[in-house]
Amino acid sequence: MELIDTHCHLDVMEFDPDRDSVLGRARAVGVVGLVIPAIHRAGWPWLLEYCASGPGLYPALGLHPVYLDEHGEDDIRALESAIATRRPLAVGEIGLDFFVRDLDRDRQQALFEGQLQVARAANLPVLLHVRRAHEPVLATLRRIRVPGGIAHAFSGGIEEARRYIDLGFKLGFGGMLTFERSTKLRRLAAELPVEALVLETDAPDLTVASHRGERNSPEYLPDVLASLAEVRQADPGELAAITTANARAVLGISASVLPANEANADAP
Ligand SMILES: [Zn+2]
Repeated sequence: MELIDTHCHLDVMEFDPDRDSVLGRARAVGVVGLVIPAIHRAGWPWLLEYCASGPGLYPALGLHPVYLDEHGEDDIRALESAIATRRPLAVGEIGLDFFVRDLDRDRQQALFEGQLQVARAANLPVLLHVRRAHEPVLATLRRIRVPGGIAHAFSGGIEEARRYIDLGFKLGFGGMLTFERSTKLRRLAAELPVEALVLETDAPDLTVASHRGERNSPEYLPDVLASLAEVRQADPGELAAITTANARAVLGISASVLPANEANADAP
């Protein structure tokens, strides 16, 4: 079984004590690819260096909307040049967050649009962070067309999901799906076309039910798969193959660059 964690902050300090063992355990359970989205410019150099250190580690570069105050005037220009020279997998994580109070919406919008323009010019997909802001995000995506991407930790409605899909996006499902009480989300995950689904952990945040209250980790991605299989009444192996193919397709990850994973291959 080969899984891709399409949203995992393995670069953050919560993983400083044991990053290598976390990655080792994630690989052991079949996580062959990890997409690591940036938060701010100061984190880009280390993120790029880390992702170059082993197979299946894919950086996205971007400026996260929640950390608005950390972004400088010339960070969009810096993003443009970093993308040209380092060619990350995607632009992210970017978007709009209207849930966190006191985050200036006009500044968020300007930051989001600037980064969409960069993604569009570089022909790169984007990793979206959207909270209580699906309408303005969808309106912006209709104006500034990018080559698709992923709406991470998706929690909107079915109509919103369809509009993202029409714009070339996949929808990321993570640890929230493993909680029985996430009835709306589980219903949505059951209803959506399977071609639209990708898996993620968002580690170290948003952990799975079996590790409630603990640091989240990419090694728990099989829990997300199991919950998705349960709500869709689907075969986990089949769902793993499809969601991994979806992630590869939308992010342009060719199967050949993923590390060989014979040990986890299903028996014939
Ligand atoms: Zn994130």
